[in-house]
Amino acid sequence: MKISRIEHIGIAVQSIEDVLPYYKDVLGLEVYKEEVVEDQKVKTAFLQVGEVKLELLEPTCPESTIQKFLDNGGKGVHHVAFKVEDGVTEALAMCDEKGIRLIDKAPRNGADGLKIAFLHPKSTCGILTELCEE
Ligand code: ZN
Repeated sequence: MKISRIEHIGIAVQSIEDVLPYYKDVLGLEVYKEEVVEDQKVKTAFLQVGEVKLELLEPTCPESTIQKFLDNGGKGVHHVAFKVEDGVTEALAMCDEKGIRLIDKAPRNGADGLKIAFLHPKSTCGILTELCEE
């Protein structure tokens, strides 16, 4: 697999509205896009930090995996997303071959126009890992 850079860092929050004053007024960052991803039961807000984005993730219902993450005390960094240059499908096949536990067997549509797939944190040294391509 050929990773070119960190594409974004996913951060779980109970309320995007509540945390925005910190990101805007203290860090001086701007939200360039907000998007609800229905099948993931999340509302997202994206902030650009140089080449990397921050993806704020707010649960849209109690069944959201983000809500479960927050309920388990997991406030803060939720996942790290790597940009894969040679395709997510190929990367998943390679990970599968190496015995990495896949959350997604095939790429699916994520926020901000990306094709994404997740690797299970049990196989990735504790960090929920997202592979993505444009
Ligand atoms: Zn993400």
